[in-house]
Parts: sequence; structure tokens; C-alpha cells
Amino acid sequence: MNEIDHSALYRLPWNLADNPIVWLEPTQACNLACDGCYRKNERNHKCVEDVQKELETFARLRNYDGVSIAGGDPLCHPEVGDIVRRVSAMGRKAILNTNGVGLTRELLVDLKRQGLVGLTFHVDSRQGRPGWRDKTELEMCELRTRYAEMVASVGGLACAFNSTVYEDTIEQVPDVLDWAGANIDIVHTVVFITYRAAVLQDYDYYAQGKLVDMAPIVYSLAEQRRTDISSREVVRTIQKRHPDFRPAAYLNGTERPDSLKWLMSLRIGERGKIHGYAGPKFVEAVQSLHHLWAGRYLAYSSPGMLSMGRSTMATCAWDRGLRGALGHWVRAVRKDPLSLFKTQHIQAVLVIQPIDILEDGRQNMCDGCPDMTLHDGQLAWSCRLEELKQFGCWVNSVPRKQAGRDAIAAQ
Ligand code: SF4
Repeated sequence: MNEIDHSALYRLPWNLADNPIVWLEPTQACNLACDGCYRKNERNHKCVEDVQKELETFARLRNYDGVSIAGGDPLCHPEVGDIVRRVSAMGRKAILNTNGVGLTRELLVDLKRQGLVGLTFHVDSRQGRPGWRDKTELEMCELRTRYAEMVASVGGLACAFNSTVYEDTIEQVPDVLDWAGANIDIVHTVVFITYRAAVLQDYDYYAQGKLVDMAPIVYSLAEQRRTDISSREVVRTIQKRHPDFRPAAYLNGTERPDSLKWLMSLRIGERGKIHGYAGPKFVEAVQSLHHLWAGRYLAYSSPGMLSMGRSTMATCAWDRGLRGALGHWVRAVRKDPLSLFKTQHIQAVLVIQPIDILEDGRQNMCDGCPDMTLHDGQLAWSCRLEELKQFGCWVNSVPRKQAGRDAIAAQ
């Protein structure tokens, strides 16, 4: 198993001003209380006029392709349909980031009519879902399948799943990946986000030079838990079961160029059979050509595009990864000629490694963060918004040992 060399991957071209995604939060209300959530659950829906203003501010600050309509859970907002319609009316892709609890097929049909392009479901075993407590990630796949089948039955919508990865669930990541592979025709993206929190024991936190109490912040952590699972560790876990698993592209950290904050793999295959992985050149071509053609980096391909795996392998064999996938597929067809007629699908696998606090207290964020939301009319990391709300600025983290040394030096 080789360590991933970031310089062999394609560095996604996303940046602050030009990025596939923005992150809209029309509400902070949620109907679940997930372990790793980073937003205070409050029933404070924004009115649609304010949402419209935010969409216009986003458009002024950033060139973007899609809007992640998140929260809280956006389905808690009574006017979610109108919000979807407004995103779509601005020529952007409306994507709902939801836990799915409030979703019915009728609502989904209506949202699609308003212009919905896709959904990202957050489903994992640590959400305290009524009826789904104490389940493994594999058992949670039954619920994932229900949502994926509901989306497929409506048709034409992108369907993604994300789950938070904890120290006691990381070994189950390959189970979720296998489930996604077995449903590659209806699941277009699967995302693993490693758990993070502001650890209270190891750091002091300062806002504008003053020591602050982080304990009331929803993503602070008093107990000892792992908050340092890396994308590399997740990939190593996957490769124990699937040694051929290959990432193709990444976003680095703001402090560490070799940290893999967003790590993307694209795999090609049919239900239950993966033929191979696209390489960095293919991802580069897709992002560059989309930007040339549409003027924006690509967020969320349509299910129709993602089912063109055969023609993609045939026409893009200049990419080493796709050439390998093509060879594997041809051998599979030789063994079973009927499989020539099976649709080949493309599925994205993302591993996201949010903020890392380095030993010296520096904060290593995602460079080119796609999930930026708005605070006071400015772009802000959505994963740390509570700091701005509580203290009016980002907090600095100072290792406890360092704080002790500073106090001695000041004497
Ligand atoms: S910086 Fe935070 S909000 Fe932005 S992509 Fe990384 S984890 Fe998400």
C-alpha cells in the first residue's frame, strides 16, 4: 500500500472567488441531533427575502455552479420549495443537503418541479435517528437504499450520501463504499467526512487577543476522542479491502500543501462491479473544459452524464486510469458478452478532512473551501460559523503548553 503523493494528483482549481459551490443556510433548525454537528439547533428560519439577498451576495462575491441548501435541515424551512425555485431562477443548481427525515416522494416531486437538481443525504449511525439507534454503518445502508430508490423513482436528480467518520466507525467505511458500488446506477456520490471538534483540554482559544470560553460552542469537545482522522487513514482503510482504490484529485490545506483536505476518486462500473478509476488528467479535463464551456467549475453532474461510462472509457483512454478501466471492462465482456449491453456508471467518492489544528496551534483549513457561507455579507467557513456568531471573529488556538510558556515569558 503506497502513501498518497499529493503531487501525483490533480489539484482541483477551486478558490475563494471561483468555486463550484456555495453553502446557503436558510435555517438552523433541525429534526435530528447528530454527534458531529457544528450548528446550534435553533428554530430561526430566514425569510425568503433575506435568502434572496444572500443568493445575490454570493453571486457578487463568487462565481459558482451549485448551491448547497443546508442548515440545520432545509426541509424544516416552511418555504424550502420557494428557495429552490429562487436558486434555479438564478441559473444555479439547487442541491438539498438533508438528513431526509422530512422527505416524502410527493415533496420530492414538487421540489424537482421547482428546479431541484440533486440531494446530498447525511445518513450515518451517530444521528440518534428514531428507529435506527445502535445500528452499524452497514445496517444504515438499508435506510440509504430507501432514499436512493425514492430519488431514482422520481428520476433526473443527482443523489449523494455523506457520513461522518469516527474512530469507532472508520473500519466500516468499506462497507458503505461497497453498498455504494452495489448501487452505482442510483448513487452518484458518496462522501466521508472525518470527525472534528475544538478540543478543550489541549488548547486555549483566543478571540481578538482575549482568552474566551469555547465550551458553549456546539463543536467544542471536553472528553478524549480522536479528532485527527486523516483522509490518508480513510484511504488506507479502504485499500485494505480494495487495494486498487485510487484518488485522482485533491484540495490542499491552507497551512500544509500536502494535506488532503478534499480527496476525490472517480470510479467506473456497473452494479456490484467496479472496472477502475479515472486518473488526474481526466478530472483536470472535466473541470477545465466545463469552465471553458460554461464559465464555471463543475458541481454535480447529471445522472444522464454519469451513466455514460462506456463512452467515457472509450473516448478518454488517453487518461491512464480510464485506460485501465477500459481494459478491465473489455476482459469482463469477453467472459460474459451480454455485459456489453450493461450501462457503465461513473461514481464520485470524496473524503473530506476538515480543520486540523497543528501542534503549534495553526489552523489548517481547506484551501479553496467549497462550503463557504455568508456572515455579515462576507464569505465564511460554514464549519466554524458559530465562532463568528459568538465572538465576532475566528478564534485562535494556542496549545496549552505554549500558553504556559508565554505566561512565563511575560513575567
Ligand atoms: S474549511 Fe470547513 S466548511 Fe470549508 S470545506 Fe473545509 S470543512 Fe468544509
